[in-house]
Amino acid sequence: MVADLLLPSGTWNMPLIEWTFCPATAEKILAVPLPLQLMEDSLFWMGTNDGVYSAKTGYVFLQQVDEQGVASPSMSVSMEEGRWKKFWAAPSLPRCKEFSWRLFHGAIPVRQKLRQRAIDVDPSCPICGLEDEFVDHLFMRCEVMKATWFGSRLGVRVDPQQSFSTFFQQLVRDLDDGGVAEVQRLLYAMWEARNRAVFDERRVDWREVMSRAAALRAPLEEGMTRDVPAATMARWIRPTRGIVKINIDAAVGRDKLAGFGMVARNYNGEVMASASMYPTMVLSPTIGEALSLRWAMELDTQLGFRRVLFETDCLPLFQAWKKATRGSYLFTIIQDCFRFCNLFDFVDFTFVRRNDNNAADYMARNASTFTNEVWVEEGPPGLAPLLLDDCLASMPL
Ligand SMILES: [Zn+2]
Repeated sequence: MVADLLLPSGTWNMPLIEWTFCPATAEKILAVPLPLQLMEDSLFWMGTNDGVYSAKTGYVFLQQVDEQGVASPSMSVSMEEGRWKKFWAAPSLPRCKEFSWRLFHGAIPVRQKLRQRAIDVDPSCPICGLEDEFVDHLFMRCEVMKATWFGSRLGVRVDPQQSFSTFFQQLVRDLDDGGVAEVQRLLYAMWEARNRAVFDERRVDWREVMSRAAALRAPLEEGMTRDVPAATMARWIRPTRGIVKINIDAAVGRDKLAGFGMVARNYNGEVMASASMYPTMVLSPTIGEALSLRWAMELDTQLGFRRVLFETDCLPLFQAWKKATRGSYLFTIIQDCFRFCNLFDFVDFTFVRRNDNNAADYMARNASTFTNEVWVEEGPPGLAPLLLDDCLASMPL
């Protein structure tokens, strides 16, 4: 078990890992960031580096699966190119799109599909028990689903003679983007309801399917409200009186070893503390930046700063913080950071361009020389000119 590779303190058991695995594998394991507090296990998507699922990588994955013949499509999959474009552009959650896509391609394990593969299951519909569970039945003709289609804002009347494939293609052809998104949400909600019926043995009501579909509305329709960090003219900007601004940075070498840097300054531009930390094995530069934030937060609570403003030049980290997207290595670390937030009286987080983060960058790049060091109310000699630059650039007019 992975748990066997952990020490009781919650860190990797390095000697055991290095003894058990070849060096390349051991290195990869040791680079996986661990949370400071125990967390529930969670699933990470293997198709991307950061473990965050995207519809595009899901599509690539399914293509590979198809080529290997694991999920062989059994239905006609012809749909005009333009309709797929419309399908993928619809404003719904990636998982709803991806599910609908798989359903259309016959890759969803309804009971009749399992029977075809000689798997011994009761073939009847888990919702009504009246007919066998074919895709056409479960997603169209089963009474509950028929009521769902009709009761939805689309008001669709299911044609008893039509195949699911035709039904689906017509919906995508006839509806606008918002309607297609609704179809995707309904199909996903139907499958969820079916699984509840199978695994929890609960009766399924069409209103429940509807309200679940409504809950699946994408909270922020992608691309519309993306965080756009303000471009600033000045370089480093002084915090307001009473706030300590803490610039952080990570520098990752080719050996995947990262150095962390931190510089804390007050509204006069005076250094309250500076620090560096080296080395930490990291999976990616962004993970390194996130770990540097966590490290700095812990350190700054110990230094007694109460009202703080952290500043990063790493856009993915800033976005992950703002959006708090679950299900990634990045979020594992950010969750630790959120816990540290409770130890401050005031915390905020800002994004600056790389050129505006020179002081922290200097600390991170030189971390391998400084190793683990903290300077209180001062910094290493090389930092001084950068501090002066920032101080002058941010002079109040
Ligand atoms: Zn049924």
